[in-house]
Amino acid sequence: MDANEVRKDLEYICEETYSQYVTYDEIHTALGAEHDVQKFLGLLKDAGYGFRRAYEENFVLPQYGGGLFINHSSEETEGGYTLYAKNGKNLIVLSGFDSDYDQFTVYHECAHLYQRRLNLFGVLSNDDYNTYLQEVHANTFSSMVRLLKSKTVLEYKKQQLCRIANAINFYNSQDKRHQYYLSLPIELELIKAIRKKGRKNCKKEFSLKNGELDFENMALYTADMVKKFAFKRFEFLRILEGKSVDQHDFLTRKAKAYRILGRKYIQMDKKKVASRIYLHRRIDEEREERFKNKLQNIPQVDEEAKVINAVCAIDVWQTTMKQSYGYQEDLKDMVRGKYVYLGFDHTDDEANSILNIRDTVKDLYEKWKDNPQFLKLFEKINNIQTRDEVWALKEQKEREIQSLGQSQLLKHILRHPSKNR
Ligand SMILES: [Zn+2]
Repeated sequence: MDANEVRKDLEYICEETYSQYVTYDEIHTALGAEHDVQKFLGLLKDAGYGFRRAYEENFVLPQYGGGLFINHSSEETEGGYTLYAKNGKNLIVLSGFDSDYDQFTVYHECAHLYQRRLNLFGVLSNDDYNTYLQEVHANTFSSMVRLLKSKTVLEYKKQQLCRIANAINFYNSQDKRHQYYLSLPIELELIKAIRKKGRKNCKKEFSLKNGELDFENMALYTADMVKKFAFKRFEFLRILEGKSVDQHDFLTRKAKAYRILGRKYIQMDKKKVASRIYLHRRIDEEREERFKNKLQNIPQVDEEAKVINAVCAIDVWQTTMKQSYGYQEDLKDMVRGKYVYLGFDHTDDEANSILNIRDTVKDLYEKWKDNPQFLKLFEKINNIQTRDEVWALKEQKEREIQSLGQSQLLKHILRHPSKNR
């Protein structure tokens, strides 16, 4: 499908559901450019995610050497997500529009917007079964849009294969229990229903007067299909427990066969996604490279320089904790030995690294805790909103040392003019 057409649909749906969207390409920008963290934070704020919440929920992460960067790890696992706003604009964050997978995600997330607007499937509850219905509905809605939009019969067939392959491929990475989203039964019924109506008639039935698709009506229609054909709560719970449910066993086998047929198509698509992910990884790496020299110790010419080096070292460890292990602990608790918790799913190696980092930070603190300037800077580095001040101070000190070095050199030159010629 044409990427511009998908974007146009998304813009229309956003307007209809009082929502906004952004893609990683737009906020993560390009090689050599800075991230548009401010734009991202602004959009999050519109959705009711103030700075603190955005930080605590890892939408933005601390950058080595001060500043923040945008966490785009969901790009690889889910391709997108929707944030519901209480009083404001819902926000969809997406990978892009190019690949089949991207386009599937766009309409999937759009379905969540309609769920919110039409109050379908207890949209704000965290009940597992409701989540299942929401996700399955989002998949079915996305399938329907893409089936009706495919231009040729061949494309339609490909979509079918891809859809069905996706119906067992797609899983919620945060909660592995929702593996596959189990949308296959409904998707098969949808394909059947479209075939029965005839694709052209079906398209007409779900079009507005201006010829565009009537997405809201399609959201309602697919919601009815979900109500009719989704696994019932007791079946769903059995499947979660790994127990056998006849229809599910049957469909899982069937889906595997489809997946083999659709593999080639999906493989092509994966390449597109992989190349984009690769680009964004390089953007991250390149950014880190640029910040690397900031992390080096400044010459320890006096007590202040030593203090600055110590505090900045602590911040580097703090950043590693959050970036690599998703770990946030108040630095003060850490140095007091009042360890809050050790994450739930760390490997032994990770747990050891975390403990090592804690000990290193604690040692540094013990060494300097009687120095008032250290305590002041430690306080600043402990707060995400003031930590940049410490890194700025480091830069300033470095300049001072450099210019001091130069003026001493100048004095030296003046005193011994001949030696330097
Ligand atoms: Zn979803």
